[in-house]
Amino acid sequence: MPDSDSEYDLIINGAGPAGSACALAAVRAGLRTAIVERVPFPRHKVCGDCFNPSVWPVLASLGVEDAVRSLPHTLLKRVRFVSRRGRALELPLPPGAEYGITRRDFDDALLRQAVKAGAVLYAGSPVTGITRTADSWRVVTDRHSLTARVLVAADGRNSTTSRLLLPSSRSAAQTAASTRLALQCHLPLAETYRNTVALEWTKHGYCGLAHVGGGLLNLCLVTTGKKVVEAKAEATGRYGVPTDQAWSSIAPLNRAPLNPAPMAGLFLTGDAARVVEPFTGEGIFYALRSGQLAAEAARRLLTSGDTGPAHAASFYASAHRMLYHRRLWVNRLARFTVTYPWAGNASLAVFRLFPQGLRWLTSKVVPETAGGAGVRK
Ligand SMILES: Cc1cc2nc3c(=O)[nH]c(=O)nc-3n(C[C@H](O)[C@H](O)[C@H](O)COP(=O)(O)OP(=O)(O)OC[C@H]3O[C@@H](n4cnc5c(N)ncnc54)[C@H](O)[C@@H]3O)c2cc1C
Repeated sequence: MPDSDSEYDLIINGAGPAGSACALAAVRAGLRTAIVERVPFPRHKVCGDCFNPSVWPVLASLGVEDAVRSLPHTLLKRVRFVSRRGRALELPLPPGAEYGITRRDFDDALLRQAVKAGAVLYAGSPVTGITRTADSWRVVTDRHSLTARVLVAADGRNSTTSRLLLPSSRSAAQTAASTRLALQCHLPLAETYRNTVALEWTKHGYCGLAHVGGGLLNLCLVTTGKKVVEAKAEATGRYGVPTDQAWSSIAPLNRAPLNPAPMAGLFLTGDAARVVEPFTGEGIFYALRSGQLAAEAARRLLTSGDTGPAHAASFYASAHRMLYHRRLWVNRLARFTVTYPWAGNASLAVFRLFPQGLRWLTSKVVPETAGGAGVRK
């Protein structure tokens, strides 16, 4: 167990994909790096467990691609879209492009790699207070007190770091589409979903199902707070989910994005900065890449003398904007079709006549080759 009042170059709050990617890149750049994580790992995380091909170039540049590919996984060979009336349209996915890996396995493996590379981990220790002193941050947990010149918020969509430091995050939370939430569970695989990811419009929202590592079926229900009971009952009827099934839940499903570099020496990554609709399964990529970019921003801040903080903030704000640039329109379209199910049904009816349109849209999210996708130096 590390000593209290320890000093680092960089403190990262949260050990999800954004936090561990940031830690890996930071220690490789020679920064003394601490990760503070609320819960002990391995831990479960509400997610569809689908790995978009864009993650591989990022994981390769972090030196962990082989370690991740060797985790228990499935290759997702097809995507199936199912309308509310049960009419299905199925498309093949590019071979070897999309993986199904449980977040329990993936997040634990990535964090282990970061610790092995030299990051110091304070796990099972939620961040409860953050203060700014002359030119550094002091982060306090129930057991520790750490200081560093750079602080990275990688603590997810309900980021404690943002809540403690940024009044704007409170208004973003208030403007969240707070009526929607996600419920998730893992079930034994049903044969019809083997090597398949299915996106199904349901009476009470939508459902994502994916065959993932360990012979499991990941089932995510997206619905509103008022319709949780009905959505679970529908899942029992439609997918055979046991009535006493334990579910995990998470909210909000979307909220206003935050400034990713809002204060000198503070960088927001992953869901802490920007939450995207889960339907297209790209959040892990954004988390990994923004974590990696935040480490580069930290390096620039620490090595550029007096101009460091301003230089690093402008680098990170611009790189973060470019990361999402021209990528979000399919995601927004997907959000429209799930917010207005009539639009989803109408689109599927049209795509049944012109499947090449849906194939083209799908290729924007799951490209044939992911070499370099989204990885901009
Ligand atoms: C229903 C659903 C399905 C999804 N499906 C997919 C999918 O199939 N593919 C995909 O790519 N993306 C998917 N996503 C999105 C993806 O899950 C997120 O974008 C991704 O997890 C963001 O990673 P992160 O590291 O930013 O945050 P997280 O993964 O949320 O990690 C944050 C970490 O911070 C820790 N933390 C929180 N508070 C504190 C604190 N006070 N102190 C210390 N630590 C703290 C948490 O314990 C956690 O470990 C889905 C999301 C939802 C809601």
